[in-house]
Amino acid sequence: MNVHDLAADVKAQIMKLPGNARIFFQNSLAGYILESRSLKDSAIYAKYWALIWATILKLVLKLLLKRGPVGLIRELVRYPWIFQFLGTTGALRRLTRGRKGAYLEATGLTILSITQTLVQMLEQVFYEPERLLINEDLVPPEIGLAMGLNVWLVEGLGLVLPVVNPVCVQKYIDETENAGVNPDACSFVKNALGMIIKGQMPKGVAIVSSNMPCDAGMASYSYIEREYGVPIYRIDTPFHFYSEQAEKHFVEDLKGMIAFLEKHTPGRMDWDRLREICKARNRMMELELELWDMMRVRPAPLAAETIYLSHIWFFAWFPGNPVSVRLFEKLVELARKNLDSKTPAVENEKYRAVLWNPWFPHFEDIFNIAERKYGITVLMDSMTYNHHSPIDTSTPETMLRGLSQIIMQGPMVRHTRGPAENYLDDIFRCYKQFDLDMVWVANHVSCKSAGAMNGILREKCRDMKIPLLVLDYDLLDSRIVSHDNMMSQVDHFMENVMKARRIDQ
Ligand code: SF4
Repeated sequence: MNVHDLAADVKAQIMKLPGNARIFFQNSLAGYILESRSLKDSAIYAKYWALIWATILKLVLKLLLKRGPVGLIRELVRYPWIFQFLGTTGALRRLTRGRKGAYLEATGLTILSITQTLVQMLEQVFYEPERLLINEDLVPPEIGLAMGLNVWLVEGLGLVLPVVNPVCVQKYIDETENAGVNPDACSFVKNALGMIIKGQMPKGVAIVSSNMPCDAGMASYSYIEREYGVPIYRIDTPFHFYSEQAEKHFVEDLKGMIAFLEKHTPGRMDWDRLREICKARNRMMELELELWDMMRVRPAPLAAETIYLSHIWFFAWFPGNPVSVRLFEKLVELARKNLDSKTPAVENEKYRAVLWNPWFPHFEDIFNIAERKYGITVLMDSMTYNHHSPIDTSTPETMLRGLSQIIMQGPMVRHTRGPAENYLDDIFRCYKQFDLDMVWVANHVSCKSAGAMNGILREKCRDMKIPLLVLDYDLLDSRIVSHDNMMSQVDHFMENVMKARRIDQ
């Protein structure tokens, strides 16, 4: 019996295992090795599997050494969601299914880098609570970091917790609704509020929030302010933010925020430090643009999480962080490797898609399934797609001007605020830039401003003969629209509109 026959035999025995045992095995390292049947890919997978576990274990051991067993238990009781990250390699397994070579490596590296930066952040929460600043996710951390503060983004965990465990945030959503918040409100906001109500969110010395991206997000900070009982500063984005006047107004607002932080926190502005952070952020942007240029080629050398998850996590929470810069350098290297050897990220790439509106954290592997089922390559999403300029680092004033553009044109904000053109024009620009075949709209039931645009978008797409999938879902709550339902919406669209055949049969 040769090795392939043996593997097929073992696989057949595993399929006979009862449900949970079978899923557990399939998601394990051994499950990957058995399925991949490639020594090289197995070695890449095993490397990231081991590095992720090593990063998590290091966090626990350091906490044990510094605080002792009682201190460790106290922190774990205070932040029980940390246990969810034991499922990180399960997410690695789901997201890498069927991926090979440089694409597999890029996906593994993205997940590892997220784990490493989250561990860095948790260590700051544990060991330096007196320097912890609470930011709304749409207020990037550059200024706080330059002032020597550690910045915790309140909504940040909502991006990753459902990726490792799709149902773990539901209890926080329920907690918020039980406390009287409108069930129609956005689950992204309700998740953050629920964690605060349950006392499971880190508490800082001050809060910075804003009037972005929508009423639900903005209103939640009245509650957060009351619950935390610390001083708050709200920055104010004008409705029309693409103007000289708006930038001037916003720079003054940022100066007010710096003065507020100097008064209420131990942080002091260090402009040289801000320059270093902005330069490193510019470097990330330069690398990302190089990556996007390579994505324009058919078939694309990288796709999905390596493009959109890397952007949202590292630009929003860890701009200029050495881990972020290293990740983008490596992503460019891996994309170049595939491009030079004419190796597509998605074998049998048939369709190229953009996803508009926030993606699907509780069903993160939907793109992986679509890759294997129909050869769909998701190349871009609206949280990532932007046309920011690099920050001019010559003076404090120019840096604040650059940051003001980035903040006012932040994810969600740049497409859900101001006139309809802000939403529509970027979709068609992106469609052309990446030579796409279809547009997917993530129709999050609570996102009223984006939902209001669907009718106009349908008409425009019909006129321009662009296939459009409006995929109903809830951002963080899989009870509203199930994964099966979401997948059948994709199937119906592919069968009836694209007349596509499944390639995994
Ligand atoms: S997804 Fe929509 S409703 Fe939710 S925070 Fe973003 S803009 Fe607001």
